[in-house]
Amino acid sequence: MDAQSLAATLEPILPDGAVITDRQRLRTYECDGLAQYKVTPALVVLPETTEQIAAVVRACAEHRVPFVARGSGTGLSGGALPHAEGVLIVMSRMRHIIEIDRDNQRAVVEPGVINLQLSRETQPLGYYYAPDPSSQQVCSIGGNLAENAGGAHCLKYGFTTGHVTGVEFVTPTGEVTEIGSKAPDAPGYDLLGAIVGSEGTLGIATKITVRLTRTPEAVQTLLGAFPDTDHAGQAVSAIIGAGVVPAAVEMMDALAIEAAEAAVHCDYPAGAGAVLIVELDGPAAEVEHQFEQVSEFCNAAGAFEIRIARDDLERALFWKGRKSAFAAVGRISPDYIVQDGVIPRTALPEVLRRISALSAERGVRVANVFHAGDGNLHPLVLFDDAIPGEAERAEETSGAIIDLCIEFGGSITGEHGVGSDKAKYMPRMFGDDDLDTMQLVRCAFDPYSISNPGKIFPTPRLCGEVPGRNRGVHPLVEAGKAELF
Ligand SMILES: Cc1cc2nc3c(=O)[nH]c(=O)nc-3n(C[C@H](O)[C@H](O)[C@H](O)COP(=O)(O)OP(=O)(O)OC[C@H]3O[C@@H](n4cnc5c(N)ncnc54)[C@H](O)[C@@H]3O)c2cc1C
Repeated sequence: MDAQSLAATLEPILPDGAVITDRQRLRTYECDGLAQYKVTPALVVLPETTEQIAAVVRACAEHRVPFVARGSGTGLSGGALPHAEGVLIVMSRMRHIIEIDRDNQRAVVEPGVINLQLSRETQPLGYYYAPDPSSQQVCSIGGNLAENAGGAHCLKYGFTTGHVTGVEFVTPTGEVTEIGSKAPDAPGYDLLGAIVGSEGTLGIATKITVRLTRTPEAVQTLLGAFPDTDHAGQAVSAIIGAGVVPAAVEMMDALAIEAAEAAVHCDYPAGAGAVLIVELDGPAAEVEHQFEQVSEFCNAAGAFEIRIARDDLERALFWKGRKSAFAAVGRISPDYIVQDGVIPRTALPEVLRRISALSAERGVRVANVFHAGDGNLHPLVLFDDAIPGEAERAEETSGAIIDLCIEFGGSITGEHGVGSDKAKYMPRMFGDDDLDTMQLVRCAFDPYSISNPGKIFPTPRLCGEVPGRNRGVHPLVEAGKAELF
């Protein structure tokens, strides 16, 4: 049975109007935040409960039809890119916060809950949800879990993986299982660790238990303007080297500042070759002391202007430029690639110089916006698709930046995931044996390779991961070398 014929099977399982087959409506879901890749799904479903998701997945498993989970579709690696012959399972009707357990500092949420919504609901109780991707106004907690999302404040508080303590999960054979709980740890293999960051390839999270973080007593934010990224980088090294762990340290270079000014008029100091936003939070006395140190480090590294946010409004203005930076680049270039890689923090100045050299050699402009504190780069590679050859040059430059990250001991993704876009880079970082071992984990969860196939792994590999419908059993199982149970 193909996915379209599956519609008749799914309609009685789902609420009225929750199965979409109309081609025009299906096209609404053809891409995520990475619009270069577009695939119209065969079918879209909008479940409202775990049981409905499990029933849809069981039907897919029975007929070997691929499925893809989708949260808010803000992913930047093509992770929620649909499968042309598959079912797209969309979480937008599962947006309930099921429980806020203040005493245990936990919340239990449905996967479609919007990241910022959780902080807004818990704020009056003196708590918030710490991982804060710049897309937090729209991205879902389920998508965050699947991508192990980071954000500006993850320098101090850690990525999503440190904030998820339990998950209710539908496996790719349609079983509902619970892994972890409200408790901080569980014995046995760290399956929760395997699921967080698995990009929808191990199944679907249907209920997520997360840690809530106490709202800090004090927050102080400064914006430092530097002649260039080298000087700003020196300030970052001095701050971290002194043992100060700010909540966030973000850097933007001149081109990124130009874009942000054009888009949101953030009024950063004129003539800055780089700006740093440094935010400290915690007990008031500690913040005050460390804030003085940070200001001194910035001055010593050559900051020509330091602004201190006097209130929440001014703080929001500092952040407005940074948080709008990706979209803002649209003001200075018709097309651009948002790259995402990570390097050891100490390599920042050298890698930025090499990126600048690559940009000059290839005649491709690159704007840099990044989480400087943890070495997570977001080079924005600008091009004009209407000019023949520019898109290819931009793509090559973007790939060369990823090679740089690997050369300096970093990784091909800092937080946006591998998805469809970066599967081709996986062999640059991992050998065949590594990739095969990862496939064994995947196949233990997904014997038919139907859960988000075509993502993360580069070529048709072990799980029968081929374009189109997947059939057959994993070759290692067939050869008697691995067992599924
Ligand atoms: C302007 C902008 C800024 C961004 N800034 C950041 C940032 O600072 N940090 C960062 O980490 N990311 C950032 N992102 C990327 C993106 O927002 C994150 O990856 C986010 O976690 C995706 O959430 P989503 O709900 O949109 O997921 P989607 O894009 O819908 O899906 C992402 C992946 O998760 C899977 N998935 C979704 N829901 C589930 C589920 N319930 N169970 C299992 N798998 C599921 C999908 O199959 C897909 O593989 C940014 C994106 C944009 C557009």
